[in-house]
Amino acid sequence: MDLKGKRAIVTGAGSGIGKAIALKLAERGAAVLVNDVDPEAASATAREIEERGGKALSVGGDVSKGEDVREMVRLCIEELGGVEILVNNAGIARSALLINLTEEQWDEVMNVNLKGVFLCTKAVIPHMMKRRYGKIINISSIYGRIGAIGDSNYCAAKAGVIGFTKSVAKELARYNINVNVVLPGLIDTPLLRGIPEKYLGPMIKEIPLKRVGVPEDIAGVVAFLASDEAGYLTGAAIEVTGGWNM
Ligand code: NAP
Repeated sequence: MDLKGKRAIVTGAGSGIGKAIALKLAERGAAVLVNDVDPEAASATAREIEERGGKALSVGGDVSKGEDVREMVRLCIEELGGVEILVNNAGIARSALLINLTEEQWDEVMNVNLKGVFLCTKAVIPHMMKRRYGKIINISSIYGRIGAIGDSNYCAAKAGVIGFTKSVAKELARYNINVNVVLPGLIDTPLLRGIPEKYLGPMIKEIPLKRVGVPEDIAGVVAFLASDEAGYLTGAAIEVTGGWNM
């Protein structure tokens, strides 16, 4: 699963799953553009990659803003020389029961979790299509398939990412661009720590592997999808949940 010579963009890579993905792709030899809405968090991840002997460029930016996204892709091409891999990882939760959910909370989650995936994908594909090579990996959630109380906005956006992935995989197959989506289960990150223990405890009991995942559990699967060994996978929705899926 060698990624030497490849250039990757990982969004939301200042923390959690995105950070683990950025570190893993760099360890496999890719030069990584580390994006995060928090520029300091992005630089910290980039520094860690460099300390481990890898190549990284950090770019602060909001994936829900077209201008930020286009600038990020321009910098990747200018500074790293191209882009073969895009990991759409940035995501947020704004949890509330539907009865209390505000229009603002709905829009915020849709803009980052779904529109962000659209904007980043649209910005990289002209380059990938021209070179007839690309690997796009979207991070959805098992919640996008099964739903969750208090997260209708998040689940709707994550379900949207699955539909988007499957459509774009069909459109881009002729350009040798693979587009897949990963559906993590419960993964130990700051996002998960936002779920109250009274809900989390019972959910963990339902996981056949009897533990929450760690960010590296997702990073390993993403590194595989970014490699040529996964060349015959496209439009796939891969559940990485310790067996938990309902
Ligand atoms: P996390 O630790 O909160 O990391 C997400 C990162 O994305 C944060 O650094 C965050 O910055 C950044 N971000 C937020 N809004 C952004 C924006 N508009 N543009 C660019 N970056 C932005 O969460 P995580 O658990 O690693 O989640 C990563 C992905 O996995 C998300 O898409 C999430 O939905 C998905 N996921 C997570 C789990 C889980 O159990 N953890 C399960 C299923 C799916 P700030 O911290 O400054 O906001």
